[in-house]
Amino acid sequence: MNPSLTLTLLLALGLLAQVALKLWLNVRQVRHVADHRHAVPAAYAQTIALADHQKAADYTLAKARLAQWDILLDALLLLGWTLMGGLDVLNQWLLSVMAPGLLQQTALVVAFMLIGGVVGLPLSLMQTFGVEQRFGFNKTTVALWLADLAKGLVLGAVLGLPLLALVLWLMEAGGALWWLWAWGALVFWQLFLMAIAPNVIMPLFNKFTPLQDESLKARVQSLMQRAGFQAKGFFVMDGSRRSAHSNAFFTGFGASKRVVFFDTLLQQLSPAEMEAVLAHELGHFRHRHIVKMMAVSFATTLAGLALLGWLAQQAWFYTGLGVAPSMSASNSALALVLFMLVVPVFAFFLAPLSSWRSRVQEFEADAYAASQTPAADLASALLKLYQDNASTLTPDPLFVKFYYSHPPASDRLARLQPALAAGA
Ligand SMILES: [Zn+2]
Repeated sequence: MNPSLTLTLLLALGLLAQVALKLWLNVRQVRHVADHRHAVPAAYAQTIALADHQKAADYTLAKARLAQWDILLDALLLLGWTLMGGLDVLNQWLLSVMAPGLLQQTALVVAFMLIGGVVGLPLSLMQTFGVEQRFGFNKTTVALWLADLAKGLVLGAVLGLPLLALVLWLMEAGGALWWLWAWGALVFWQLFLMAIAPNVIMPLFNKFTPLQDESLKARVQSLMQRAGFQAKGFFVMDGSRRSAHSNAFFTGFGASKRVVFFDTLLQQLSPAEMEAVLAHELGHFRHRHIVKMMAVSFATTLAGLALLGWLAQQAWFYTGLGVAPSMSASNSALALVLFMLVVPVFAFFLAPLSSWRSRVQEFEADAYAASQTPAADLASALLKLYQDNASTLTPDPLFVKFYYSHPPASDRLARLQPALAAGA
């Protein structure tokens, strides 16, 4: 069988398997949550009200219903771009209105991304103003949503376009090892973005005010000292402008390292619980999770680019995916777009691996928190967070394996049991 047809069949089968798996996982999640909706699990009968448990169930079900459409739309879009010839049409049209070259190549990738963004817009709107709104989480106004969209586009153009043009240029002019140069550029770019994020990017979307609460600050500082950490500052972010969901995180590295609490978190948790949440975040640092995650991401990117470097040379890579490569002009942009479209289809089957790694890291951070602060504080903070975010206590175990970057509350609390027993 010729390689072009093999690739076509491989994509069709891969996509079919991926969509079937995703829909099946979704159905499992819906069934599991609906089956447990009638009663709070025995372990939480004393701490969680039935109304809250049912709200979490309904919220999970609403999200799953929307996810179904998302899965189908993604699959249709992929088919439309590739086997149904959408990308080929777009490329031919661009070539008919502009001269071949770097500008046309860049325009192709940008047009592809913009079209994808527009197609995904209705579902994103339904998510924010439908589901999130109905469950009382959405605080975004249409005006703020539009402003975010505009800022995101400008930011994407300012920060993303030069990188895209550079990569496309390297694909042309970088020789056989262009992918190595492109990788260097991507790594540098990623580090640069991380360095400017706290001071330049994030303030475009949110207000960061230094933590005012003196007693909390004293607590937090003494915890940091005990644990041997330094951070430039403690900030409160106005997360409540957009959503009632809450969070805390570290950002920046080196000298710009800082701790950020959502204002919503400050309202929900007691100072002791805040301290436990911060200790959890410190745990991520102590175990070098961020560095490890970046190392894995850089290694994956390198492998991906090397693969792309090879695929871009093969005529069947284009024809097998519904595109006629140009004989006279560059095909770099086509190769890049096809790669971005096709790789996720197969990468999804590896999702349990990365989700598992992430959940292991959460357990490690929890264990660290329990070693620095009373485990009871972390336990009650977790319960409050899961409850306030309407996270279901009864997710489908297989769904968890694929999608959950954080273990379900029940698993995290179960792991804390020994520490809780020792502290009691
Ligand atoms: Zn964590």
